[in-house]
Amino acid sequence: MQIDIVSVFPEYFDVTGLSLLGKAQEKGLVTIRAHNLRDWTHDVHHSVDDTPVGGGAGMVMKPEVWGQCLDDLLDMPDGSSQEQQPADQTAGTTDVTEHKEAMKSSSDTSDGIASEADSSADSHEAGVAEPVLIFPNPSAPLFTQADATELSQAKRLVFGCGRYEGYDARIPDYYRSKGVDVREYSIGDYVLNGGEVAVSVMLEAITRLLPGFMGNPESIVQESYTGDEPLLEYRQYTRPTTWRGMAVPEILTSGDHGKVDRFRRDEAIRRTSRIRPDLIARLDCSTLDKHDRRL
Ligand code: SAM
Repeated sequence: MQIDIVSVFPEYFDVTGLSLLGKAQEKGLVTIRAHNLRDWTHDVHHSVDDTPVGGGAGMVMKPEVWGQCLDDLLDMPDGSSQEQQPADQTAGTTDVTEHKEAMKSSSDTSDGIASEADSSADSHEAGVAEPVLIFPNPSAPLFTQADATELSQAKRLVFGCGRYEGYDARIPDYYRSKGVDVREYSIGDYVLNGGEVAVSVMLEAITRLLPGFMGNPESIVQESYTGDEPLLEYRQYTRPTTWRGMAVPEILTSGDHGKVDRFRRDEAIRRTSRIRPDLIARLDCSTLDKHDRRL
């Protein structure tokens, strides 16, 4: 999988070189490149934002800069000929081809967070089909485990991190109108300063599902929100079986796998009913057995 991330703070993604995601890049399972949106600006101030049309507080990310950046990353025809440039904004303009060359060499030289796995990028290029373009947005539908599962099948993802009051609404609309698979997702009912943390969340949820990512693939089979029955997981314990006077449920030490499975399933259903009744309401009841129904 090849992942491109566009941000005004690409350094946020330096940490993707750590831990399991870092190992996945070393193994060539995933290539991650973080790009600085300001590399696509042409004015002396490298501005990426402007005041909201219609008035109001804050600044909005400009469509022209995003357009040139995404045309390049998505390898689409340069749509900027349709843009109207106000006369006073052409001052300080640099040649676009100059930037394209710079981008090429920056990705060749592992700008941002690309790792040793960069060497596998070319092999990905050959099979890259239909990149999915993803924008984090607090006013979009919630990103779920089902979305992570679906997106883990993609060969290429391009994330665009919003900042300020967000990005001009025409940016996702334009790429949708050009046939790109564009998604907008919220990671929760709260507002962050920027899309970087939201992208990190989605990135981790998606990449950990890649085949070969986990040392033990079983670890991602029985998890909260996963599979045909998206329940919360049962509670987990390890040794010692008694700690500070608190014993683990006796049945877990019985060695009877049937009983342990039943106990865990009952607990998963009870916990989900109590903590997330919305998940229970969405369950396909035909998957429940007689015992489940009594709970
Ligand atoms: N004015 C926007 C609103 O009220 O919906 C908030 C903009 S927020 C300060 C700036 C950027 O952070 C957004 O464009 C988005 O990319 C990201 N962001 C903030 N909260 C988010 C969330 N809960 N989920 C996903 N992205 C979020």
